[in-house]
Amino acid sequence: MLLTDFDGTLCEFQTEPEAVFLSDPRRMALATLARRPGLIIGVVSGRRAADLRRRCGLDEPVYYAGLHGMEIDGPDTGFTVPQLSARRDLLQEIAGSITEAISPLPGAFLENKDLSVALHVRAASPPDREQAERAFWLLATPALDAGTVRLQRGECVFELLPDISWNKGDAVRWIEADVTRRLGAVVQPVYLGDDRTDEHAFEAIGQRGITVIVGRRPSRASRRLPDPAAVEQLLNRLVATTKAP
Ligand SMILES: [Mg+2]
Repeated sequence: MLLTDFDGTLCEFQTEPEAVFLSDPRRMALATLARRPGLIIGVVSGRRAADLRRRCGLDEPVYYAGLHGMEIDGPDTGFTVPQLSARRDLLQEIAGSITEAISPLPGAFLENKDLSVALHVRAASPPDREQAERAFWLLATPALDAGTVRLQRGECVFELLPDISWNKGDAVRWIEADVTRRLGAVVQPVYLGDDRTDEHAFEAIGQRGITVIVGRRPSRASRRLPDPAAVEQLLNRLVATTKAP
């Protein structure tokens, strides 16, 4: 079972994340591998699963684990973390109240990403910024205190996300169990990733499989590749060395 992260692993980063798509040679290699008997392919990412499927453009049966594994779209079944839709409703409720509270404040705006909402105050005057932040805290604190949402703080950005303990490692375990259910076989996992969030997957696999960090970041993975171009070479090697049906 070959699982790979998308951005920075299968594809080079672009300034505009919207511009990232799987290249033709890499898509062809993955498509070939997905048709090989005994080989399972999956893509794991922080992006939404449907977005991932669109950017890969594969017709073959492949697993797409989006939102760091919180939603998984498999060849014949899928999975969504149970709390996800309730947390989205809550976030949307909070977003509505914040939008209303900050509407008279030019320069402050709320970015609504459906499963997360982010207050931006960079363009606001200091008094408006203070007022926007006060409204934000007033409206977000109950959910933050309840532990249903968490705060990710950036430079002049306050982002609220669902607080759900489910990560890429849980997604790897779910996919392994699903493969065993479908094919009655125990899988040996191989996982490639470049991000800190991929460490959860490396940890979940441990010595049971092969873990590959892409890039120079310190990692618990057992192997290392320098960049997505090297990942492409690996895919081509696998195409050349695995048996066609
Ligand atoms: Mg990545």
